[in-house]
Amino acid sequence: MGTGQDERIIVAGTGPTGLIAALGLAVIGMPVTLVGPAASREDRRTTALMTPALAELDKLGVLADLAPRTAPLKVMRIVDATRRLIRSPVVTFRAAEIGEDHFGLNMPNRELNAALEAAVARRPAIDWQHDLVAGWVTGSDKVTARLGDGTTVEGLLAVAADGRLSPAREAAGIRTSVRSYPQAALVLNFEHDRGHGFISTEFHTETGPFTQVPLPGNRSSLVWVVKPKTAEELMALDDASLSIRIEEQMQSMLGRIAVEPGRQVYPLGATLPARFARNRIALVGEAAHVFPPIGAQGLNLGIRDVRDLVATVAENRSDPGADKALAAYDGKRRPDVLARAGAVNLLNLSLLSDMLPAQLARSAGLGIVGGLAPLRALFMREGLQPGSGFARALTDLREQIRR
Ligand SMILES: Cc1cc2nc3c(=O)[nH]c(=O)nc-3n(C[C@H](O)[C@H](O)[C@H](O)COP(=O)(O)OP(=O)(O)OC[C@H]3O[C@@H](n4cnc5c(N)ncnc54)[C@H](O)[C@@H]3O)c2cc1C
Repeated sequence: MGTGQDERIIVAGTGPTGLIAALGLAVIGMPVTLVGPAASREDRRTTALMTPALAELDKLGVLADLAPRTAPLKVMRIVDATRRLIRSPVVTFRAAEIGEDHFGLNMPNRELNAALEAAVARRPAIDWQHDLVAGWVTGSDKVTARLGDGTTVEGLLAVAADGRLSPAREAAGIRTSVRSYPQAALVLNFEHDRGHGFISTEFHTETGPFTQVPLPGNRSSLVWVVKPKTAEELMALDDASLSIRIEEQMQSMLGRIAVEPGRQVYPLGATLPARFARNRIALVGEAAHVFPPIGAQGLNLGIRDVRDLVATVAENRSDPGADKALAAYDGKRRPDVLARAGAVNLLNLSLLSDMLPAQLARSAGLGIVGGLAPLRALFMREGLQPGSGFARALTDLREQIRR
């Protein structure tokens, strides 16, 4: 294929996935044009990234700066806080049980984005255009992005990291299935009297999970999934009243609570594409999958998208946007994304469902996992790195048979 400008890869979108994609591609020596605005400093969310995702960030040279501003997740607990007939016992996952110090690190999105932006600035192979893509033209041998200022950029491949509404995905002609849930996530950070002991607790309620995740010091982040109307009511409360509501919900587990300024509400939904790449455009991050924030999946999965895309590009350097390369990428991402999306959506729906069989299945499932150490270990390894839990379980089984 062509040389120089033609070999460029266009990355559209400068959320965490776009920045990570640009870095990953630059690391393997591809010239990249990154298009998108500077990250919003208003994002109050935090992101829990598991150890495999952290290893990818380390390869990009961003983890060392970031680590001091994160909190390790050593224990993850699920508490059934529904008032239903059938409830599950508390399920506790300890990293130490599978020989790890922690499952991952929780970090403020603002810190993550700032560290990624700084790493992008250090890479001369990345040409960052602080603009939006205004239009796309896909051809058989190249893809062209028209920017807001009227200039154009050509590439062999475009990476759609432009979020849940992804204009690039639409330009590729990729259909999606979209589902909106009768739920919204209230997001905030808070201080508390007692130490969190690096334990994250997910309370399952009838409207969705209420998840506390440790931050450095006596601080935690909260993602509270409720009905959209309840989210509005909670947003309208003053800090003192909201702090009391949160303390009640947590059964005073962390003592007195003081919410910090800057609450936000995110509507919840799920989106999946019919395919993960087409017409020289490959989808990553929320352009490729959106689902409710249960079990810290979204960006962990986005980072696996980038890992697989970078590997595919490395194997198809002469034309990373060719149909063969796009089919290989689609084949790599499909099982992982569909399995994760299926599990998260099912768990979410089982919480919302008033039907006894759904509650029974959820409760029995969590009960079995919580009660059996080998099964717990399998789930923990699976949660960290898909496939590894089952691979280890098979190895253990083989060893037992040999003995
Ligand atoms: C409440 C909540 C809590 C979460 N917690 C976790 C967690 O603990 N762990 C986890 O792994 N995940 C979590 N997630 C998911 C995670 O936040 C998302 O997966 C992640 O933010 C998606 O990043 P992204 O870069 O794909 O998309 P976005 O952050 O949406 O970025 C899209 C970018 O594209 C840009 N853009 C749009 N249109 C154009 C255009 N035409 N041209 C150029 N650029 C364009 C936008 O400006 C933006 O910069 C959570 C999500 C929510 C809602």
